[in-house]
Amino acid sequence: MFQATMPPRSGDTHTPTTSTTHAPARRARPLYFGPSHPLAQIARRHCRTHHTEPQPTRQVGQVACGACWEHAIRTDERFAVECDLDEEPAVPADHIDEIAVAYAVTGRPVTLTKAEREAAIRLLGDRQVPVKRISRLLRVNLRTVIHTLCTPLNAPDPSAADQTPAPWSTTP
Ligand SMILES: [Zn+2]
Repeated sequence: MFQATMPPRSGDTHTPTTSTTHAPARRARPLYFGPSHPLAQIARRHCRTHHTEPQPTRQVGQVACGACWEHAIRTDERFAVECDLDEEPAVPADHIDEIAVAYAVTGRPVTLTKAEREAAIRLLGDRQVPVKRISRLLRVNLRTVIHTLCTPLNAPDPSAADQTPAPWSTTP
């Protein structure tokens, strides 16, 4: 049997029948879609200015409603594509947010760091997902997918200045 607990409507007097002791709030790591997200300000501003009706009550990460988050992300992505920008968010390139990776591998539009993109490609590669599908899911070109899957995990970055020989090129 499905039992939904309805939130109290505004105007309802909600008096708990049992005495509640205030347990210390569990401090999890910050929400992915929260105030620290690179697009939070854009989503918040959009949410505050683009609703003719009263503000939506369900805000994701106490920033904006889902529709405004989506708008901010899609706009950012479109802008990046139109301007041919690298889709690098304002975090170090080696930062890996596992939640972002988990979202990305399901095809959700999330902005990934270089390391996250590689992790997502490898994860899908491990699952035997065809490269074309990986490319479509992650919105990454096919060459990048193949290159990542063909590159050993700890291979030196070819863009790095030092030309350390790759470990697989040395003779045993
Ligand atoms: Zn909104």
